Amino acid sequence: MAVQTVAGNTGVSLGSADALSCRECGERFPLGPVFACEMCFGPLEIAYDLPAGDPEGLRKRIEAGPNSIWRYAPLLPVPADVADKPNLNPGFTRLVKADNLARELGVTGELHVKDDSGNPTHSFKDRVVAIAVEAARAFGFTTLSCSSTGNLAGAVGAAAARAGLRSCVFIPHDLEQGKVVMAAVYGGELVGIEGTYDDVNRFCSELIGDPAGEGWGFVNVNLRPYYAEGSKTLAYEICEQLGWRLPDQLVVPIASGSQLTKIDKGLRELIALGLVEEKPYKIFGAQAAGCSPVSRAFKEGHDVVRPVKPDTIAKSLAIGNPADGPYVLDIARRTGGAVEDVDDTQVVEAIKLLARTEGVFAETAGGVTVGVTKKLLEAGLLDPAATTVVLNTGDGLKTLDAVAPTTGPSAIIRPNLDSFREAGLA
Ligand SMILES: *Cc1c(COP(=O)(O)O)cnc(C)c1O
Ligand SMILES: [Zn+2]
Repeated sequence: MAVQTVAGNTGVSLGSADALSCRECGERFPLGPVFACEMCFGPLEIAYDLPAGDPEGLRKRIEAGPNSIWRYAPLLPVPADVADKPNLNPGFTRLVKADNLARELGVTGELHVKDDSGNPTHSFKDRVVAIAVEAARAFGFTTLSCSSTGNLAGAVGAAAARAGLRSCVFIPHDLEQGKVVMAAVYGGELVGIEGTYDDVNRFCSELIGDPAGEGWGFVNVNLRPYYAEGSKTLAYEICEQLGWRLPDQLVVPIASGSQLTKIDKGLRELIALGLVEEKPYKIFGAQAAGCSPVSRAFKEGHDVVRPVKPDTIAKSLAIGNPADGPYVLDIARRTGGAVEDVDDTQVVEAIKLLARTEGVFAETAGGVTVGVTKKLLEAGLLDPAATTVVLNTGDGLKTLDAVAPTTGPSAIIRPNLDSFREAGLA
């Protein structure tokens, strides 16, 4: 593990986080609210001085920790007393052993669904925001903000309310009602922008460079290196819940691609720290056909991701110009995985399949991962005999519109037995 200290560190103390390091050229910078390398404009990520050398002790310490992402605080850029501050305590969501779904899909090995709909604002975004809040506090930001495809706005609004920070979040104006209401209900400011997520994101970058954005911490822009680390906790939890064991295959949704790249980082850290036994694992990326720039680049054998204009019901994944796309391609290729996409009809079918087989109601992003899992099994790219983990990153109640037209009562009857028998339900 990196054990280096950077001269001129700002004095900000965020646990075992040591420095920011450029993912392209490796240059290191002191911890601060910056996200791009001064030398090459490459994206920055957190480098750590991780607690190596005593895996058994670390494992015990984690297991004795809180039932939230804070059990992994020693591996995150957060102060040691993080769990004591007002926060949403996200994470440690259930890992569902999906035997019924496995049977339906012809999987003979272990199939698990990591169900992140159980987070405080019902999506995986609570993980990343919780880390960004600590960075915002450390850097003295007073307003918490973000560009969002929907789930992030709600997660930021809730986390800011609890932390006592002002919030002002930006979304495309035409999102699902469930997401708009959730983004607004926590009392912060919510701004709808006439444009796509990519337009919203560009606008936020402009705001950061302007005096109007002074004192604003954008969790997924100027706090992005910290925010992104929250996704590592998915990898930690999955392995711990499997009995400190790596899965063979993971199916992960792609919006910006950040989650997928950090799950890989988390798995590699667990191996390096001796918390799991090293063995190969494959990471598969999942997109909706209506916004599948990474899947297309993967299939065409390209290293660059050509931006697209999204058109899909999987709005939480609708990022046409995914910042981490090239890194996702690297990881899928390096681990022997793949990137695949499914159309909106398949997304809806997959949502219903998961609900019908396992009692898990996923949002459209979960329909994407389950649908892609089915498609990859049919194509022979996923090994049916291996241990597979499929991610559900959000709650179906947020995207009711996707299933409402084809889901409803089996019958409407009068309140008597004759009427019940007539309906053929006896
Ligand atoms: C944001 C989000 C993701 C993944 O986002 P990345 O930008 O790829 O990290 C996945 N699922 C849901 C439901 C999301 O809201
Ligand atoms: Zn660089």
